[in-house]
Order: sequence, then structure tokens, then C-alpha cells
Amino acid sequence: MTIDWAALRAAATDVAGRAYAPYSRLRVGAAGLTADGRVVTGCNVENASFGLTLCAECGLVSALHAAGVSAVPALVAVDVVAGDGAPLAPCGRCRQLLQEAGGAALLVDTADGPVPLSDLLPAAFGGPDLSARRDPAQPEG
Ligand SMILES: [Zn+2]
Repeated sequence: MTIDWAALRAAATDVAGRAYAPYSRLRVGAAGLTADGRVVTGCNVENASFGLTLCAECGLVSALHAAGVSAVPALVAVDVVAGDGAPLAPCGRCRQLLQEAGGAALLVDTADGPVPLSDLLPAAFGGPDLSARRDPAQPEG
């Protein structure tokens, strides 16, 4: 699959313009290319309580599921930018979110060009860790 990084970055920059960021004033947009060729986007949404703030990637992953993308992994490429249109590294929480949506091979745009997510989140925790390490004696919640 050919990845149009310029279009992905343009979509991320566009949605960054709709971010709700009155506290940090750091607008962030994220655009992801799905395995079936769609582009999904998200922007950051801050909250006065700060701890409830949603990163742009949270919105993107929500949009991914809302769009009914069922491929595994669902994402093949992601571009996250600040309001100025330049790449911004996903925070740690979002790297974990992207890992579940796109896997280790997900390409993430950076200031130095696209890199696999495994470069940004080595030795990632994932679903297989849960199934392999469950305590069968622990009652289900
Ligand atoms: Zn984040």
C-alpha cells in the first residue's frame, strides 16, 4: 500500500485546527491510514480537570472503531502534528493505544521521517501478555 504522507499530514494539520486546547494552547491533530485505505482523524480535547484530557490519538482510535474498521491491525500509518503542521511525538499512553490499533509495524511520521512504532515503544505490553500471565486462581471481576 502506498502511503501519501503529505495527505496524511495535511489531514492531521486540518483537524488540529479544530482541537479544544484552551489550557495548554497546544493544538494537536492525528490522522491515520487504515488497512482498508480510509483516513481517520482525531484532535486533542482538554478539560479543566487536566487528568481527563484526551490526546488527538485517543480521538483517532475512537474514530477508527466508530468507522467499523475491522482489519487487524487496523492502522498502517499515523501522522501526529501540532497546530503548526510539524510532527509531534505521541505521548507514552498514546504509543500504547497505537500499538493495539496498528501493531509494532505501524509507521509513525516523525521529524526525521516515518519509523515503525516498535522504535518508539520497544518491548511493548499487549494482549498476549494478559493471556499468558493470567492467574487462573483469581476470580473474574
Ligand atoms: Zn497522548
